[in-house]
Amino acid sequence: MMSAFLSQISETLEGIKADGLWKTEREITVAQGARTQVGDREVINLCANNYLGLANHPALIDAAKTAMDNHGYGMASVRFICGTQDLHRDLERKLAQFLGHDDTILFAACFDANAAVFEPLLGPEDAIISDSLNHASIIDGIRLCKAKRYRYANSDMADLEAKLQAARNDGARHVMIATDGVFSMDGYLAKLTEIRALADKYDAQLMVDDCHATGFMGPNGAGTPAHAGIHADIVTGTLGKAMGGAIGGYIAASQPVIDLMRQRARPYLFSNALPPSVVAAGLTAIDLVEQGDDLRKQLFENTVYWRAGLEKLGFDLLPGEHPIVPVMLYDAVKAQDMAARLFELGVLVSGFFFPVVPKGQARIRTQMNAALTRADLDAALAAFEQAGRDTGVLS
Ligand SMILES: *Cc1c(COP(=O)(O)O)cnc(C)c1O
Repeated sequence: MMSAFLSQISETLEGIKADGLWKTEREITVAQGARTQVGDREVINLCANNYLGLANHPALIDAAKTAMDNHGYGMASVRFICGTQDLHRDLERKLAQFLGHDDTILFAACFDANAAVFEPLLGPEDAIISDSLNHASIIDGIRLCKAKRYRYANSDMADLEAKLQAARNDGARHVMIATDGVFSMDGYLAKLTEIRALADKYDAQLMVDDCHATGFMGPNGAGTPAHAGIHADIVTGTLGKAMGGAIGGYIAASQPVIDLMRQRARPYLFSNALPPSVVAAGLTAIDLVEQGDDLRKQLFENTVYWRAGLEKLGFDLLPGEHPIVPVMLYDAVKAQDMAARLFELGVLVSGFFFPVVPKGQARIRTQMNAALTRADLDAALAAFEQAGRDTGVLS
């Protein structure tokens, strides 16, 4: 029995390797930062979601240490039994204020927030209309919900409207549109102004997952809805990217939605509360973000400089304003060769290829952050030029 089971798994593993889809993990031996260390090699890190460079910020480390002294290490409870400290509610209120919603509710991660958010709100009489490039956690959250599902082609507003009409024609009671604020393989922003207008036209709710935007996109870093000048009915997000980069997710919405989540959301009711160190550092991260105009300025200056440098070298980039800057190699093997060569040259990047991106659309996704210096960027550009020549990407 057991051996047939394990040999089947081994076959699957061999298949993953044979398809060239095997993922390996590099072990970083120091803190996450603009420069980091993998084994004994120091590398410039261009693949962390550390947009504001807060992942190793002394103020966050201090806040976490102080909270451990005052509030202990772990909660050993879900929130509703005995896992809620004053800090948890402080963070929920502060996040709500920062994002411009009535209230928020914390989760262990945004993956959990997205797994949680749909099921209590929508039933079989309702409809969810989802962008085809939405994050895996949105897709899984929608699977856990009984609402009828519709999918529109990425950022295709005519297709979204067709799906809204279909949902209305099918007699949906409530309709919800779900989209990423930023599509993370391309760095493209969702067309939130147009999506909001269509949501209003068809009386639909708008849910935005803003993981790759909160903290740095829009005025005060309040995210893509603020950037587009619209209000999303529901926003999910993470503390694991720009907001310090540790862990933790949340839903922000109107009071009744959050109240119902506290009663019904399964990843909230049946999973441990965030530890006080993470919650306290989250409070400090919001302070830094609210006073973070200089960090955001640095981030976007770096992004402009990096883009211009790569273009000048002759690389093919996807257009955009987001600190995600994808370098298109199209061919999966080329993307892997280029990433491997860059690592030898002291630059940490990741190649992305099918099935993460469509076939023939392989790329190296570079990500800027505010902690990278001009010297880091110049060194990384020199490495890209060298690696580009060595792999035949540049002539
Ligand atoms: C990173 C990410 C998540 C998951 O967030 P975690 O807090 O790491 O679980 C969800 N949605 C999107 C769009 C993301 O980029």
